[in-house]
Amino acid sequence: MRILITGGAGFLGSHLTDRFLSEGHEVLVLDNLITGSLDNIAHHFGSPRFQFIKHDVTNYIHVPGPIDAVLHFASPASPKDFPEIPIQILKVNSLGAHNALGLALAKGARFLLASTSEVYGDPLVHPQPESYWGNVNPIGVRGVYDEAKRFAEAITMAYRRYHGLDTRIVRIFNTYGPRMRLDDGRVVPNFVGQALRGEPLTVYGDGSQTRSFCYVDDEVEGFYRLLMSDEPGPINIGNTVENTMLELAERVNRLTANPAGIIFQPLPKDDPKVRRPDITLARERLGWEPTISLEEGLTRTIDWCRKALATASAESA
Ligand code: UDP
Repeated sequence: MRILITGGAGFLGSHLTDRFLSEGHEVLVLDNLITGSLDNIAHHFGSPRFQFIKHDVTNYIHVPGPIDAVLHFASPASPKDFPEIPIQILKVNSLGAHNALGLALAKGARFLLASTSEVYGDPLVHPQPESYWGNVNPIGVRGVYDEAKRFAEAITMAYRRYHGLDTRIVRIFNTYGPRMRLDDGRVVPNFVGQALRGEPLTVYGDGSQTRSFCYVDDEVEGFYRLLMSDEPGPINIGNTVENTMLELAERVNRLTANPAGIIFQPLPKDDPKVRRPDITLARERLGWEPTISLEEGLTRTIDWCRKALATASAESA
């Protein structure tokens, strides 16, 4: 297949790129590099089955030749980005999604949208099945991401119903692993970066809020199976093991032997109190479930971050 991945230089997009290339497919990456990085895809430069095009997908996308699948993974995704680049987030998930859908339609390609557990907002149903419509504050700080992704789902379904486009929607729950930016702001890179610098971990609120963390290789396996299936979704892909942020902090401090402990900081506004996917659909339709434990995934992530920090300090020396 010839596959186009928007946001292919980002965290998830670059792991997807690796996966498709390793299966023998051809991959075109479109990325404007505002949160993505060439470091994530540099190992493919020179490969005849790989192409990188620096492009902001909120502008019209023109790509010569046939395309079999368009995967729309471009979007900043850290709560830290929400107040800093709100308009770009709204645009990439609305205008960008529209352009990516239009390209898929023009090429007769399959389309996969990277949606999010954020469509469930601060959920009143727990765990969250795909049938839950969510509890989102449209005018809050997270609204720029949550509502934009909800729009992206709506326009994807409109293309499916109105144009007959072959679409898929995946709702991605908290994912972590190598290539997350160390200054990304999300909890795993924050905690691991702080621990490796010997600083106290910044737990927001009282740390009783929960998330369910999926290692990136498991997550990408779910995306791959979804694209290759006939399942339109929306379908939750995420880990079902739920942890409080206090438990996560304690685990990271233990794995890194960080003696600096924990400090408490204010809880951001509208921070969801709980989150855990119901993955019955993914198990039944895709035969998918996560296989990598938090302990194993964190160990791999810590190793990667340790090397990334060493490289960064060697470069600045
Ligand atoms: N969090 C934290 N300390 C940090 C960063 C995040 O306690 O340094 C908390 C945050 O308040 C939230 C959870 O960790 O409850 C996950 O936050 P993240 O930004 O990773 O993503 P979210 O799931 O909220 O989109």
